[in-house]
Amino acid sequence: MAHSFEVAVIPGDGIGLEITPAALDVADAALARTGAAPLARVPLHVGAQAYLDTGTDLSEEATEACAKADAIFLGACGLPSIRKDDGTEIRPQVDLRFLFDLYAGVRPTRLLPGVPTPLASPRASEIDFVLIRESTEGLFSPDGPGTIDDERATDMQVITRETTEKVSKFAFAEAARRMSDKRKPKVTLIDKANVFVSFVFMRKVFDEIAETHAGNAEVERIYVDASTLSFLNKPWDFDVILTENMFGDILSDLAAGLVGGMGYAPSADIGDERAVFQPAHGSAPDIMGTGKANPTAAILSAGMMLDWLGRTRDRQDFIDAHDLIQKATDDAFRDGLRTAEYGGSDGVKSVTEAVLAKLS
Ligand code: ATP
Repeated sequence: MAHSFEVAVIPGDGIGLEITPAALDVADAALARTGAAPLARVPLHVGAQAYLDTGTDLSEEATEACAKADAIFLGACGLPSIRKDDGTEIRPQVDLRFLFDLYAGVRPTRLLPGVPTPLASPRASEIDFVLIRESTEGLFSPDGPGTIDDERATDMQVITRETTEKVSKFAFAEAARRMSDKRKPKVTLIDKANVFVSFVFMRKVFDEIAETHAGNAEVERIYVDASTLSFLNKPWDFDVILTENMFGDILSDLAAGLVGGMGYAPSADIGDERAVFQPAHGSAPDIMGTGKANPTAAILSAGMMLDWLGRTRDRQDFIDAHDLIQKATDDAFRDGLRTAEYGGSDGVKSVTEAVLAKLS
């Protein structure tokens, strides 16, 4: 059978092995609906189990296959029981960000119909924002290895002009793309520019880019501590959020908590040429093999991959397939799916079947 684009597939570890085929089956079903050929899947043995089996978590061949593919799809990598000699967990997904300069960590946050939120306000159903986590520097920068001795430990935060400019432009482009009759574009920078010079610099560079978009989008700058109140009190006011790597790491879990949990948090790590699509959660070893894994985040991540392929390769049928996945997922949840995270019995099989049924 003819295939469309080549996708390097890293199922990884734990529930990654269960949700990856489910998400890619949904992607192919949506593509079939638009008349597009299915994706060519190139399976790669990467992650903690690969480290145990072969001594390396991300081999050179796997890296080359990722570089060659049109997109990369990753389920989840890492298991607490398998660690490197220095005690750290296996995290090839982080290495891929640095290797391919995937500076924009995109985390769409939307409350699906029928999914419970901890917020009491009826306005919670309006939650629909995108958090962009700069993903190659900040407190995670490989340029700033920490120091440690028996008396003192340090870590270093690195913010560069080049990456801040790129990720700020990305944020404004995302706001313009999301603009609709109902939504005015807004970009919110979250930082701690009242205390750290690295954030003073980040805000200065962000402001320079914002200036070139004056009039096209509302611009807001808030300190990270104050932002946590906004996440709880009025998250429906956010449109596009831009923040540093570590803050983004923390705030994206808070965002996921607003819309049902990690099983509802899709993500993409996007650079100028390449992109990795993966659910924001980890390998969830506590539920692996039980069938309880919620594949929704993976399914929506696969949808993001089709959208990105469509936009970067000028393929409207792929963009349409993304829209179909979002609608099918919404419809399936509106019909009453209830996943295990909040006491329901729906897991990887029944959620995938329900979404596939809506697509057929
Ligand atoms: P990482 O550091 O790799 O992001 P983690 O150790 O922080 O991973 P996860 O593996 O994401 O955490 O799991 C956190 C909790 O969320 C676990 O209790 C797990 O079972 C649950 N969880 C994560 N993903 C899902 C999912 N798709 N469906 C259901 N529960 C999930």
